[in-house]
Amino acid sequence: MADIRFNWTKEEILEVYNQPLMDLLYQAASVHRKYHDPNTVQVSTLLSIKTGGCPEDCGYCPQAARYHTDVEGNDLMTVQQVKAQALRAKSSGSSRVCMGAAWRNVKDGPEFDQVLEMVRTINKLDMEVCCTLGMITENQAKRLAEAGLYAYNHNLDTSEEYYKEVISTRGYEDRLETIDNVRKTNVTVCSGGIIGMGESAEDRAGMLVALASLNPQPESVPINALVAVEGTPMEDQKPVEIWEMIRMVATTRIVMPETQVRLSAGRTEMSREGQAMCFFAGANSIFAGDKLLTTPNPDVNEDMDMFRQLGLNPQKPFIKKMQPQTVEAENSQFQALGEKPKWTRPGHKIDRNEEAKSKAKELKNADK
Ligand code: SF4
Repeated sequence: MADIRFNWTKEEILEVYNQPLMDLLYQAASVHRKYHDPNTVQVSTLLSIKTGGCPEDCGYCPQAARYHTDVEGNDLMTVQQVKAQALRAKSSGSSRVCMGAAWRNVKDGPEFDQVLEMVRTINKLDMEVCCTLGMITENQAKRLAEAGLYAYNHNLDTSEEYYKEVISTRGYEDRLETIDNVRKTNVTVCSGGIIGMGESAEDRAGMLVALASLNPQPESVPINALVAVEGTPMEDQKPVEIWEMIRMVATTRIVMPETQVRLSAGRTEMSREGQAMCFFAGANSIFAGDKLLTTPNPDVNEDMDMFRQLGLNPQKPFIKKMQPQTVEAENSQFQALGEKPKWTRPGHKIDRNEEAKSKAKELKNADK
């Protein structure tokens, strides 16, 4: 559409974000109604297909191997397990399954082949498939596209300036590189961030500048409120106020009108009234299921009850873009190249939490 802008400045976005709330809501809701059905919200299910043990040091993440959290690591799920969960998600109103693996980057080999099979399986269930697997190369993005992937998630998390306060094991440019690799295919881009990590309003605006300047803009932008998990460096962060969340959602809607804005982590702390205001301000997707990777999330029945109360309808799959065709593994045009994405801090020393690892092993053995 002609009125989509890719040249937002931080100052302009701050002006939008800081205007009186009623004006902000009116502006955001007007944009929302122009580009989307205001009574339709997509329900997505997030599956952690491989949990914990990640070598990265994202300060908010309980899955980083170096932090002392209660997260129990799990090996890669089987295709059958994933299919069973996807069917359950579909029957409770989800039109999208997002599979997350706690990896720094994708490595060609049997595990990635298994993920490709999961993508094929879910696409054949007529659900949108999204993956979040860390950094990927162009070839890996093409293989995912060929399997029938609908979206790839890779969050920018925050502004480029604040990024170093959150993560040291890779740079902002590494994130943009993966997004660029996804853009070389027909797979849509999902990229957003987290608020409540100690960043300023300028940083929030900075992140939105980075996302809105991508051309095309991401088809999907998740806005998360930090869930401060004990054992992570961000355990003492104060919860985000609902007003900040509403302002962030509304501003995202205004600067990226066509995007699907996802109300993501942190919903357990929000009242129904707060969530309703986020929907009014332009959020048109939620994650369903009692867990968001490893952090708590409202129960599906509770969400369906909220939908009934607000008169919202779950969005059908492939409304925004056609369903991709799945190519079977034996007909694949792409070979595994055994390459690794190049990132800017490859020499970073991994400081693993060996104590937590052996404790988890002991617990696993005791369960047998
Ligand atoms: S890359 Fe993902 S799984 Fe790994 S520490 Fe960061 S957020 Fe967690």
